[in-house]
Amino acid sequence: MTKFVFDPPPTPAIPIAGLDALFPVARIFCVGRNYEDHAKEMGIAVDREKPFYFSKSATALRPSGATIPYPPGTNNYHFEMELVVAIGAPAFKIAAADALNAIYGYACGLDMTRRDLQLSERAKQRPWTLGKDVEASAPVSTIARAAAIGHPARGAITLRQNAEIRQSADLSQMVWSVPEIIAHLSGFYQLGPGDLIFTGTPAGVGPVAPGDHLEGVIEGIGELTVTIGEKR
Ligand code: MN
Repeated sequence: MTKFVFDPPPTPAIPIAGLDALFPVARIFCVGRNYEDHAKEMGIAVDREKPFYFSKSATALRPSGATIPYPPGTNNYHFEMELVVAIGAPAFKIAAADALNAIYGYACGLDMTRRDLQLSERAKQRPWTLGKDVEASAPVSTIARAAAIGHPARGAITLRQNAEIRQSADLSQMVWSVPEIIAHLSGFYQLGPGDLIFTGTPAGVGPVAPGDHLEGVIEGIGELTVTIGEKR
């Protein structure tokens, strides 16, 4: 039996609608600027030649209903409501036409972002690690299995902050579709069961404050609620 010098951390995992078993998470990839109106509000045009990515640690996952802390090192912590794709089968160098076969299911996710640091990192042409790979910054809802709901290419995606609508768009407005993202990303990574892909956020991102209540809904997929806790 393998011995460790300390107890290994628990495997990050997400509940699955209609199942008792959990979905164990390996990696979290995130697509940048995948809705034109959000790229515009960030002051940058969409790149239609190819998508780009950053990543978050799987330990940043939190379940729906969680209270997540307002993190240190920022005065401008933002919500970004996103469709999350859960990969359930190996996918390496696959074509978009075959990409749906690799999908286990879909969920609602929040790509919580230290916007002030992301923008200052961007301005200095540095990686976005401090801005994006934030502890507890990846709340994800229960996964809806593709076997149960199919593969939604359209449907309303909304985010309410304290019951006020902040983000309201449709999945069909994504610059890069889910199959296109998987096909492109699988040219660089051996995607496999447990990988998550955050597919980008529509316009309307904004700052949160301790005590805020966020509620994200994606038509046909589910909903995600989060409370912002005290500043760490
Ligand atoms: Mn995002």
